[in-house]
Amino acid sequence: MLHNSAMNSRRRDFLRSLAALGFSTFLPAGTLSQSTASPQSGKFRVWVFSDPHVGRDLKYGNGRESLADAIRQSESPSGFDWDIALDLGDISGDVGLPKDAEGEEVVRQFDALKKHRREQVYDLGGNHDRSGLDEPQEWWWRKWVDPTGEHTQFSHVGASKRPFPIEGTWERYSFRVGNLLFLMMGDINEPSQKLGRGTLGGNPAGVVSGDTFRWWQRMVEQNASSIIISAHHYVLKNTTVASGDWEGFRRDEKGQWKDWYHGYYEGKGSPRGASYLYWVDSKQDSGAFENVLNASPGRVDLWLGAHTHTAPNDTYGGKSHIEQRWGTTFINVAGLTKYMGSPQNCIPRSWVLTFTEASDEVAAQCYLHTSDFAPQGWFPKFDRVIKLTKPFRMPAKSAA
Ligand SMILES: [Zn+2]
Repeated sequence: MLHNSAMNSRRRDFLRSLAALGFSTFLPAGTLSQSTASPQSGKFRVWVFSDPHVGRDLKYGNGRESLADAIRQSESPSGFDWDIALDLGDISGDVGLPKDAEGEEVVRQFDALKKHRREQVYDLGGNHDRSGLDEPQEWWWRKWVDPTGEHTQFSHVGASKRPFPIEGTWERYSFRVGNLLFLMMGDINEPSQKLGRGTLGGNPAGVVSGDTFRWWQRMVEQNASSIIISAHHYVLKNTTVASGDWEGFRRDEKGQWKDWYHGYYEGKGSPRGASYLYWVDSKQDSGAFENVLNASPGRVDLWLGAHTHTAPNDTYGGKSHIEQRWGTTFINVAGLTKYMGSPQNCIPRSWVLTFTEASDEVAAQCYLHTSDFAPQGWFPKFDRVIKLTKPFRMPAKSAA
């Protein structure tokens, strides 16, 4: 139960959020068109995108703006409405270390936002966003993408302009929308590795610190009444397509591993876990997150990840892009790039999740940003309705 004053301050926060989004809270229902009326129509839409690999597409795609193009499409008449967006990482396309010039380009492409403000996009870092092992920890991503708004002069992110305020750090943070609780976790360099970014390309295999894991576990345990949405650049082991051991690669005619979804470096790094969140608290294949979910099925409604780029109909390892395990629905949302990987694996796309007031179902829809796989636009074959553990509540209505 919320104390009354907490309730009131939450309601004020939400009204302020609506105002920041450009919504009037006093318009009667039906005054606005469907496409701009989401709070009044009881809908909350979350655009989820990942892996634009900005510099890579710009270079190999003859100036292709993987991030800005997707933003412009979403805001176009044939696009879709969204209230917030989640960016699940690999905004950098450098196979070496990310550099300032690409950071400036990322900020420039975010300027394509015309109907939304930058702070409506909530970001987390991927493996390509990591800096060198001997550099300040993840400095590039913190400087240019900057979820907590600590480097506004570079990132153009203002902490006070977030429609739903962030609690936490660049490495892990949460925010709430009604009874939705978003837990955002960044991928980092594994401290025990001596070789990594700058040497091993993207250095695949996902990493979080022990502090991040313990924070996540505590948040999950303390928020049983919330609909919990976890997000990390990687999915967990044996969930969605190619997320099992060694499934990031294929074997050649001689039986040797070769690049497939991810780059293979003979005898180096941790290729076995290239497609999943492999390192937790410096333990390989720790099973830490999986064990928590297994012990209390359904406590986390959604786990949103990315990282493995492949065709929408790929089911390598007997797993598709949306799978349920431990009562949690996993979605691999990757990605926006057309040039990080082979053409058959790079089908630019993103997802829209639509939550409806009082409904315990969320609609997931896939949007194709090019016509490489099927005509550009919605790809309805992928539409899913996902059951939630409890009905969604918008704060404005519940507190009014
Ligand atoms: Zn990645």
